[in-house]
Amino acid sequence: MADIIALLPDHVANQIAAGEVVQRPASVVKELLENAIDAKASSIRLVIKEAGKTLIQVIDDGIGMSVTDARLSFERHATSKIKSADDLFQIASKGFRGEALASISAVAHVELKTKLADDEVGTAIKIAGSEVKSQDAVATPKGTSVAVKNLFFNVPARRNFLKSNSVELRHIIDEFHRVALVHHDTAFSLYHNENELFNLPISNFRQRIVAIFGSKTNEKLVPVTEETEVLKIDGFVVKPEFAKKTKGDQYFFVNDRFIKSGYLNHAIQNAFEGLLRPKTQASYFLKLTVDPATIDINIHPTKTEIKFEDEHTMYALLRSAVKHSLGQFNIAPIIDFEQNPNLNTPYEYQDKGITAPKIDVNQHFNPFEEEVVSSRSTATRTYQNNNKETANWESLYVDLNPEPSEAQSQVYFESAVESTELFETNEIDHTAKRFQVLNKFIVQPMKNGLLVIDQSRAHQRILYESFLSDLTIEKGHSQQLLFPLELNFTMLEMAVLNEVSDLLKQSGFDFDLKKEHIVFTGIPASIEESQVSVIIESLMYDIQHQIPDSHFSQSDLVAKSLAKSAAIRSGVSLTADEQTHLVNKLFACKAPETTITGLKTFTILDKNDLEQRLSI
Ligand code: ADP
Ligand code: MG
Repeated sequence: MADIIALLPDHVANQIAAGEVVQRPASVVKELLENAIDAKASSIRLVIKEAGKTLIQVIDDGIGMSVTDARLSFERHATSKIKSADDLFQIASKGFRGEALASISAVAHVELKTKLADDEVGTAIKIAGSEVKSQDAVATPKGTSVAVKNLFFNVPARRNFLKSNSVELRHIIDEFHRVALVHHDTAFSLYHNENELFNLPISNFRQRIVAIFGSKTNEKLVPVTEETEVLKIDGFVVKPEFAKKTKGDQYFFVNDRFIKSGYLNHAIQNAFEGLLRPKTQASYFLKLTVDPATIDINIHPTKTEIKFEDEHTMYALLRSAVKHSLGQFNIAPIIDFEQNPNLNTPYEYQDKGITAPKIDVNQHFNPFEEEVVSSRSTATRTYQNNNKETANWESLYVDLNPEPSEAQSQVYFESAVESTELFETNEIDHTAKRFQVLNKFIVQPMKNGLLVIDQSRAHQRILYESFLSDLTIEKGHSQQLLFPLELNFTMLEMAVLNEVSDLLKQSGFDFDLKKEHIVFTGIPASIEESQVSVIIESLMYDIQHQIPDSHFSQSDLVAKSLAKSAAIRSGVSLTADEQTHLVNKLFACKAPETTITGLKTFTILDKNDLEQRLSI
């Protein structure tokens, strides 16, 4: 048989190798930013179009390249950063593998412009799919600009695999944060579709964190510093009361390189032991400096995982440094362990003062005076059988006629699945009084037992359906504020808000978006002024962390987020009228049985349940 093995042509080999280095636009961002840092830039500009799918450009004022270097930089294994294998143990730069530019230019159109400080003219090179298209002398400022256009133009499978713009942009911003946070001695800016999302001047570490995550971050930071022979630690942990339910902002930088380490993360979480509320996680921004000879960065192509020579010592030192800081800054005693555990009010609500829901009540309306009527489960069933991908499926949830129809106002509840028989024995007892217990449940006596409603969950359901109706059918009512309410946000947050500004207006907010703040003049009738900042912040969080490519529309997301954060909490005492109104509104909902996340809003303790409990 003839020989069958052949060496792959360079461009094919490059394209295959690119698969490892370039997974999505954010990978290109990471590589280009790191090259600019390695070139000792003092100012770096990142320009993105369509979440990097059409353009990713990094412009730096670093050392630039000579004509020969410019040409060589696109070759595989072409690097100025190491010369021999020994250098692998003394790495002080971000790059060293010499494959980023080769890989990127294998799967995109790349335009490089670069000039050394002392040269008169610079070099421009265009390259596409590993093929040099042109090379010219150009007038260009000192430093380097790399523009990457039409990523994956020749790998359709990869291009199709990219997620929506909001998801890809999220990844880009994450990479940008990882580089910009630790390199605070360098100025950075980020533009997306001509909007400036970040503009970060040269600053110290703390100022950089605050510039990225917003001015409110400042008071949350506790400094951590420690210097031993093997490890220097410098940075901040976030005070435990601001710990997040989701994986918070967790940043380790080893020798100025962002890394992921489950093991070291564990050391921090361990240091916070006893200070965090259940299911929350500590956030931190920590720079670790070690002798480069004691780590191996080479174990992962994207270099986010590294190997330490002595991981156990790192763990112990980190844990004790963080513990020490938390103690020294007197964090521990602030936490009040005696708090009533029944009042699981989230932290952000604690300083807000408790506000009862604003509910307009028809004093003469008693929903339980009516005779029990047959079910109105049709709507619910329609929803359940409906395909979620139906374009306008939300409207199934909302009443086309904003006034409750007659059948609905005759409040009746039922489970969508169970037979109506259950409810014939579950009639409301009109002679018995409804009441609230534990400031959490509303208890309604019935002919055959007790109906127990979770007030917070019920209100969430009510608000969700009502906001959804405002967003999809008829604009919600606003109440005008006596004094305009001004809230400050970062430019990134403003960009996020801009995305949903029409929906917010539709739901009853009146406001003006400025560069770094928003001025509210009106808010939906169903919320209180004191809730606005928490509601808007949660909304921003929800938008940025939405499930990628979910079938749910933006209006559904906004309705859910507003309902979730505006719903009355446990711990709020409700007047009799408010209780009536809540019960009444709940059972006028299309799907009163559950919250938006599927938790039960009410339960029934019937005679059997009660007897059974008493029989033991
Ligand atoms: P690596 O960074 O691993 O060396 P790259 O493919 O990213 O590999 O870059 C190859 C070489 O091109 C670098 O070693 C560097 O000499 C040069 N280079 C790349 N980007 C820049 C830049 N922005 N400024 C100056 N030189 C650069
Ligand atoms: Mg590089």
